[in-house]
Amino acid sequence: MSERENCRLVLVLFPLQGHINPMLQLATILNSRGFSITIAHPQFNSPDPSNHPNFTFLPIPDGLSKSSFAAQDFHSTMLAIHRNCQEPLRHFIQQMLEQKDPQGRVACIIYDAVMHFAQKVASQLNLPSINVRTSAAVSMLAFAAFPRVNEQGYITFTDSLIQDESTKLQSLDLRDLLITMGENPSDSTLELRAATTSANRNSRATIVNTIHFLEEEILPKIQSYFHAPIFAIGPFHKLAPSSSSSLLKEDTGCISWLDKQVSRSVLYVSFGSMAGLNEEQLLETAMGLAMSEQPFLWVVRTSSACRTEWLELLPKEFQEIIGQRGFVVKWAPQKEVLAHGAVGGFWTHCGWNSTLESICEGVPMLCWPVFGDQGLDAKYISHIWKIGLELEAKLERGKIAGAIRRLMVEEEGEVIRQKAQAFKERAEQSLDVGGSTNTSLNELVEFILSFQP
Ligand code: UDP
Repeated sequence: MSERENCRLVLVLFPLQGHINPMLQLATILNSRGFSITIAHPQFNSPDPSNHPNFTFLPIPDGLSKSSFAAQDFHSTMLAIHRNCQEPLRHFIQQMLEQKDPQGRVACIIYDAVMHFAQKVASQLNLPSINVRTSAAVSMLAFAAFPRVNEQGYITFTDSLIQDESTKLQSLDLRDLLITMGENPSDSTLELRAATTSANRNSRATIVNTIHFLEEEILPKIQSYFHAPIFAIGPFHKLAPSSSSSLLKEDTGCISWLDKQVSRSVLYVSFGSMAGLNEEQLLETAMGLAMSEQPFLWVVRTSSACRTEWLELLPKEFQEIIGQRGFVVKWAPQKEVLAHGAVGGFWTHCGWNSTLESICEGVPMLCWPVFGDQGLDAKYISHIWKIGLELEAKLERGKIAGAIRRLMVEEEGEVIRQKAQAFKERAEQSLDVGGSTNTSLNELVEFILSFQP
């Protein structure tokens, strides 16, 4: 047995689609480099083990039901997971250590940053831990700054982290970026950010699903703040293309529809797995799409609209337009859609996975951030990288139609498209031998192998 096969990594998942995807992709990447993998996950939103026959799955009792997850606010649900999962996780890993697993000693716990309690478990068991950011690296700095800034009487920006060399991030003021994370975070949000930052500081390293060139100015600043090594080995999905972890069934019918559309003519519209539209937003979105006169593929999750039969809420004329130049699905094979030649733009909520997936296919974006780090990603896309446009928060049909046309048909959109294409090429280069991601991944593998039992 090789050194790596004798080395088991326990990856701890946070059970939301936007976190499950990158963590399982990371597991696939590390497995392809020879490590044995155990996936520890709350029972809620359990991934399908049959999609990953090489991994061992370890469900952790979480005390949550689907309805309790939906009913509670996001952060109190997270706090419940933290409360309920820590002890069972410690117990299971301790058992693995005692049983001297023939498929490899547990070398390290690699945890989604949101599951910060896993760092405590690692320290109780004398195991090294590595923190994983499934969001942009800059969010590490934002998480670190918020609680301390708040202590001084909400956002005074006197904090040295912000005042010092970090005040400028490329062309954008870091303060503007922080405000996009929400102007009045709740106590539970601040508690989460503080706990995440503290776990981050106590971990041996951080893995970030980012590409070095995307965040080249901020990465050294983050590195000097956190000290432990940071491995920027994104985009995970390009290193683990076969990994499937969709919780919803993908409607592949849209690919045949895309096959019939003109090259780069279609606007793909999706707001990820969490963000929803109320009745008014749904109507404005539909009418904005209609007024734009562009073909569109729109993902409307059943739960994202106000009622199950959401189509009935829309005027008859819109339903006719769907027949002429639109296609609506409940869940799309998004990576395949973005890679399709007919897609010329992506109206997105700017979740980090969607952002990376769009960059990797050179698709320019129309940004409509809803919560969390999405505002931060939108600023990156529209103000720093200039590979997209930002839409106003209040959805109004005329403004939507205007923004779609700016992106899809006007000269301004063409400039953005060329920039997006250049980003795609740089993303591909990062994966080549000697590219930033490839180099960082090799370093990460050596780093993990350096842990002694
Ligand atoms: N996704 C998908 N089909 C859809 C919409 C989204 O497969 O119809 C995937 C998308 O490719 C991405 C993930 O769901 O990997 C959403 O993650 P993201 O970070 O963009 O947003 P979140 O859902 O966390 O808000």
